[in-house]
Amino acid sequence: MSVKPTQSEQNEELLQRLIDGSLPDEFGRYGMFGGRYVPETLVPALERLEQGMRDHLDTPEFREELRAQLHDWVGRPTPLTHVPRISEAWGADVWFKREDLAHTGAHKINNSIGQALLAKRLGVKRIVAETGAGQHGVATAAACARLGLPCRVYMGEIDIERQAPNVDRMRRLGTEVFPVTTGDRTLRAAIDEAIRDWVTDPEHTYYLLGSAIGPHPYPTLVQRLQSVIGQEARAQILEATGALPDVAVACVGGGSNAIGMFHPLLADRSIQLIGIEAGGRGDALGDHSATLSHGTPGVLHGNYSMLLQDADGQVQETHSVSAGLDYPGVGPEHALLKQIGRVQYKVIGDDEALDALNECCRLEGILPALESAHALAGARRWARENPGKRILIGMSGRGDKDMPTLRTLPL
Ligand SMILES: *Cc1c(COP(=O)(O)O)cnc(C)c1O
Repeated sequence: MSVKPTQSEQNEELLQRLIDGSLPDEFGRYGMFGGRYVPETLVPALERLEQGMRDHLDTPEFREELRAQLHDWVGRPTPLTHVPRISEAWGADVWFKREDLAHTGAHKINNSIGQALLAKRLGVKRIVAETGAGQHGVATAAACARLGLPCRVYMGEIDIERQAPNVDRMRRLGTEVFPVTTGDRTLRAAIDEAIRDWVTDPEHTYYLLGSAIGPHPYPTLVQRLQSVIGQEARAQILEATGALPDVAVACVGGGSNAIGMFHPLLADRSIQLIGIEAGGRGDALGDHSATLSHGTPGVLHGNYSMLLQDADGQVQETHSVSAGLDYPGVGPEHALLKQIGRVQYKVIGDDEALDALNECCRLEGILPALESAHALAGARRWARENPGKRILIGMSGRGDKDMPTLRTLPL
């Protein structure tokens, strides 16, 4: 006689399958999320990419080439830093994983150099990418220069104005920055345009996607390339303290730095995992970008996940003081991790993030990116509710890029 599995048994099975790599399934599904919702013309390119991942990612040659680029050029392993003054202030034992010290200032370079190496193996002639705040554009421009690949980055004309220094950096690195004047003229329209370009010649063009989003196999590819964060951090904190952390905290925009931290820790059941979304200036639709906390399921940019949309399915404008968290979608693996309860997702608003940023600057001499400051603030809240614990925080990037925004905000 067969007994219907309970909800918690089903959740446990899905978690096991994430850990052993049998999720996503052959259709790119993470449970009900993920998949591939794209024009027919792109299916062969996505299948080539999937085959390319199978052919190359796990070979000794590719792994060695990637390892060498990460070590010699990106500066990995990034340090794990104990922060004694924050630890004292919070009544906890706090450690930062320092992606802010990676080349170009954030974790994004791990993904850009990895995908660019793969694109070279696939024999493509040019790279296209999208960027919002410009961080993914800069990382991709640098990776393409390093590997001698021509690159075009699509960027909304509003973002081009807001992020002038990053536009200059991309151009200086030899990348063509292509202004997008359609749609919302920000990141969402830039992704649409990059996909449109890619559709016209998917055989010779490689679309280098910047977060753990998009059609299968991108969410998996980005997770694989960013997992170096959690793998290093796990080994480093064991080495430094002889134990694993009680909790790991990371900020979630599209979800790439967080999945890179969390995925390698999924099997360590004793570690609580917390993702922090941007609460912006309030809970009303349009005032935040807390997709998992406030969204509903739907399709955006080729995958089925959680989404900020109105009752008619119109994708909504978002707001966050941190441009890197300001996206109305989120990666499908996070949607599943929330559903099965392995990761908790919390919301931190602009003001609280800024306060945590200021505290970090003054107590530890580290200027975090505004995105990473959300993780800091989320960890600080957790520390107050759970005194005396060991806390690992993903410091996804440095705040130098945020100086134009910070100049307008209180010290
Ligand atoms: C882009 C960015 C993020 C958000 O992107 P994820 O894909 O969610 O990681 C977070 N922090 C920094 C510093 C960024 O540049």
